[in-house]
Order: sequence, then structure tokens, then C-alpha cells
Amino acid sequence: MKRYSAWSLFQEGLGGQKGWRPAWRAAAPKARYDAIIIGGGGHGLATAYYLARNHGLTNVAVLERGWIGGGNSGRNTTIIRSNYYYPQSIALFELALTLYEKLSIDLNFNVMFSQRGLIIAGNSRHDMETIARLIGAMRLLGVDVEEITVDEIKRAVPALDCSPRARFPVFGGYRQKRAGTARHDAVVWGYARAADALGVDIIENCAVTGFEKSASGRVQAVETSRGRIACDKAAIVVAGHSSVLAEAAGFRLPVTSYALQAFVTEPVKPVLDVVCWTLATGVYVSQSDKGGLVFGGGLDLYPSYAQRGNLPIGASVVGTLAEQFPGFGRIRLLRQWAGIVDVVHDSSPIIDETPVPGLYMNCGWGTGGFKAIPAGGWLLAHQIATGKPHDIGAPFSLNRFRTGALIDEAAGAGIAH
Ligand SMILES: Cc1cc2nc3c(=O)[nH]c(=O)nc-3n(C[C@H](O)[C@H](O)[C@H](O)COP(=O)(O)OP(=O)(O)OC[C@H]3O[C@@H](n4cnc5c(N)ncnc54)[C@H](O)[C@@H]3O)c2cc1C
Repeated sequence: MKRYSAWSLFQEGLGGQKGWRPAWRAAAPKARYDAIIIGGGGHGLATAYYLARNHGLTNVAVLERGWIGGGNSGRNTTIIRSNYYYPQSIALFELALTLYEKLSIDLNFNVMFSQRGLIIAGNSRHDMETIARLIGAMRLLGVDVEEITVDEIKRAVPALDCSPRARFPVFGGYRQKRAGTARHDAVVWGYARAADALGVDIIENCAVTGFEKSASGRVQAVETSRGRIACDKAAIVVAGHSSVLAEAAGFRLPVTSYALQAFVTEPVKPVLDVVCWTLATGVYVSQSDKGGLVFGGGLDLYPSYAQRGNLPIGASVVGTLAEQFPGFGRIRLLRQWAGIVDVVHDSSPIIDETPVPGLYMNCGWGTGGFKAIPAGGWLLAHQIATGKPHDIGAPFSLNRFRTGALIDEAAGAGIAH
């Protein structure tokens, strides 16, 4: 693989840009792999990359039914943060954030990680009590959060209506300085290119339709739209479609799939240099490098696989944003879209071997798995390669739904995900 660098750019410039090669090969499926990862989103590609890089397992394929990054990894609003409540979640999301901080160098691909900071505003005295409790818990575990006053919020986010008569008055808030955004496509493409360079086959337009098990019940092959492919181990990493593949493998998951919408406006000059979120509404916004305001809110309130989102939730998110940021009401909306996210009762992910021996899974990230991509891949790769969960991944087992050791982040952090 040719390294991307200022020098290679200069050399290619002299040679008329003719030496560049595709960032990954269009691989054809082999008859057998040591491990097959189903799903070419960020988590699937990161799992394949860390299997090869951390564990030397290179006879690996990623099977993607469409194009890589065509699922939620290419549809999200790109916010990265680690402000969770429970120690298990903080360990997980801090691992992800730490890996993101070095990801561009590690992958030799600019993922445009911008640690511009996240500001969460509280809209009632009750919110401020929640914020005080959250900050205490997070700081004890080393997360870089700090309480901020209304005046500090006014200075950092001048567009936010902080007047006493605002529909959603601001009482104060907190900030995580290391939080920010990254370019979602670049994260997917960076992992794909780096995994491919280590020998991983990335196979697009290859939908997995079923599983073949041995007499002892162990997975031994996957059935796909491009034929049968044998494997020692397989992993389901398909976000909103986890229950569909679990059913094909013969077990049920505590997962419900919903549409989550996002929006972007026409590009405008710089007006917002942090990610901003208000607790009363759950509506959040950041400005992309191109200038568009990227924003979103809560889930559509009924389960669905229709990847478009409904009008009432769309109208309420847009209306709430314009209410809180009156100046933004005059900017034209450019696009709206949705992705199907997989929500678990305790709003925490599942990273584990399934009831089918040799078949693993990573799912349940709901509305917040982009920020976790490096950690999700790292931890699942560890479990696939060693047969044992990583210490940080162990609490996110399927068994927690049997034992009751849930990690209820919706209740804990006061935010959906
Ligand atoms: C609108 C929206 C906004 C979001 N905003 C944020 C945010 O700001 N911050 C954050 O942290 N998270 C956010 N998320 C969540 C985040 O995008 C997801 O949690 C994350 O991208 C999941 O990654 P993944 O690799 O598991 O899934 P995906 O990227 O969805 O990849 C799964 C892949 O599996 C493929 N697949 C499905 N079935 C099959 C099959 N049978 N065979 C082969 N392949 C199959 C799909 O085509 C897909 O490409 C948001 C999500 C949405 C929808």
C-alpha cells in the first residue's frame, strides 16, 4: 500500500497523478476464511482491522450487502464524546476516544477528528442537579468534564437563546473539551484501506442470508447472495438489522430497531465552533467543515425498518432547533435522512459470543455507536481471536439480560445514548 504523505502527494504531482491505486481491492470471495465479519460499517471494518493488526489473523473477510459505510456509519451526525455515567461505559467510551485521538496516524488516513468540544446546556434546576451528579461521577473516573455558567455558554454559543424568557431557558451546563466530530466516511474508508493492506478481503454486494452449523451446533459456513463461504468463526456486526440475522442463526435478541433522523442545512459562514446539545429537548447541532449545520434529535417512536423517518419527529426536531437558535430559523434545510438503529433496554451495546458457538456479535449501539467504532472493533476482535472477552468488553455480555446486571445508561446519563 502506498503511504499517504506530503511527499507522496508531491511525487504524484510531478508524475501527473497517475500512480494512485484504489484504496482497497474489490476482492472476490474465497471458499473459506478463518473469520467472516458480516457488515461493512465502521464496527465491522474496525473488527477486521484489529483482528489483523492486533492478533495477526489475516485470512478474514468483511461481507457487506451494499457498499461499505452505506448503513449508519455513513448516516450519522459524527459526534464523538465519552460523557457517560457508569464506570463500565466510561471505560468503553474512553477507550474509543483515546483510539480516535491517534486514529489518523494509525490508519494513515485523515479522519478529520476535530476536538472542538461539546457543550450540554441544562434547561431547569432539575437538569442542573442531574448535571452536578453526572460531573461528579465522570470526574471521579477521569473524564475531562467541567461545569459552566450561563455566561460561559453565551460566550461559547452566541447563537443559543439564553434569555430568561426563552422557550427553553438555560440554567448552566457542562463541557467536555476532548469531545468533537470526525468525518464519518473517512473513518469507514480509513479502516477499509488499512484492513485491506493487511490482507483482509472486503466484499461488497454480498448479503448474508443464513448460517450453516455443524452437528455440534457450531457455525461452519455462511450462506450469501454470492454462494456458500466456509469459516471457523463469524461475527454479526449489522447494527439495525441484528435481530434479522440473529433469527437466521436461530436465536432472539433483546433489540428493537427504530429509525433515527438527521438533517443538514445549506452551508453558511462559521457560526458554531462547538457541538451543542440541550437536555430538555435532546436536540443537538454542530457545524460541518463545509458550513452546513448538522443536527438531530430523538428516535421515531415506533419500531421500523423504513430508512426515511417520519414527518412529526422531523418537524419537531427542526422546530425545536429554530426555537432554541432563533437565527438558524432563516437558514434553508438542505437534506433530511434516517438510519435504522438497534436499541437495547438498558441503552448499552452487546459485544459477545452468541448462543451459537463460533458466532459472535457487536450490536445495540442505538443512537451512539459512531463514537465507539474503534473500541467496538478492538474489543470484538479480542474476543474472536482469544475466545475470551476483553476486561472492558466483559460487562457488555448477552448474559446480563439473564443476570440482571444491566448498565442503564438512559437512566444514568439522562441522555438516550
Ligand atoms: C441519523 C443518525 C445519527 C447518528 N448520530 C450519531 C452520532 O452523532 N454519534 C454517534 O456516536 N453515533 C451516532 N449514530 C449511531 C451510529 O451511526 C451507529 O451506532 C454506528 O454507525 C453503527 O455502526 P455499525 O458499523 O455497527 O453499523 P452500520 O454502519 O449500520 O453497518 C452495518 C452494515 O451491515 C450491513 N448489513 C446489514 N445486513 C446485512 C446482511 N444480511 N449481510 C451483509 N451485510 C449486512 C449494512 O448494509 C451496513 O452497511 C447515529 C445514527 C443515525 C442513524
